[in-house]
Amino acid sequence: MKILIAVDMEGITGVTTWDQVTPGHAEYSRFRKLMTQDVNAAIRGAAEAGADEIIVADGHWNGSNILVEELDSRARLNTGSPSPFSMMQGIDESVDGVLFIGYHARNGTANAILDHTWSSKTVANIWLNDILTGEYGLNASLAGHFGVPVILVSGDQTACAQVNELLGDVEMAVVKQATGRFAAECLTPEVSQGLISMSAARAVGRLNDGDVPDPFVLDTPVRVAVEFFTSDMADRATRIPFTEREGTRVSFTAPEMVSAYNVFRAMVMLAIG
Ligand SMILES: [Zn+2]
Repeated sequence: MKILIAVDMEGITGVTTWDQVTPGHAEYSRFRKLMTQDVNAAIRGAAEAGADEIIVADGHWNGSNILVEELDSRARLNTGSPSPFSMMQGIDESVDGVLFIGYHARNGTANAILDHTWSSKTVANIWLNDILTGEYGLNASLAGHFGVPVILVSGDQTACAQVNELLGDVEMAVVKQATGRFAAECLTPEVSQGLISMSAARAVGRLNDGDVPDPFVLDTPVRVAVEFFTSDMADRATRIPFTEREGTRVSFTAPEMVSAYNVFRAMVMLAIG
């Protein structure tokens, strides 16, 4: 059984501020260690439940946060950027299930630590086939393109709830209760990592039993709409041919989800300027 662990940082144990997830800041080194530990907890649980091939994708910022020297040796690490599939590097038809570790809610959500959608200064909202979603939806639908289900999410209570609302009954490891964008009641690493490990084992066990939600497969062609924060961002995004613009909202249609993911990423890179 092959598992992809897709990792972001905002939903990692103890994280409540941008400083903690921003390279160069004094706090960052503490939290990349905690990020690595949360991932190790997921590897441990997945391996104990029968996963025999585990790929980790470091999906935060420039994709070089996880400490490879401290990573459980049962996994291999996709690190660095840009990589072909970014936060989902390593996804293909050979993967049996995806674990989302350290995930966060979409931009504009109450009681959600560091809520944003892909780029906190650029993207206000994204819709896939008219479904308002966040990074979790983009990444789940890319997995769905390859026929792979998401089976676990860890993060605050709101991120976990959004993933469950979109995908159905996936295992949840709620490592903090957010009370604002920058405030939460957090479990200690010892407790939260025990929870992540147990939930990962349960998720892989359920996958073995065929008791997980279906892969999230979008109807094709895929309609993507991106709302930017400012009109100059939309100006730059519409340099991509075959896009349509309405205010700060730029949309396009892609034949399938891999192209949709690629065009979306290109659009955001352009928009940032
Ligand atoms: Zn992130």
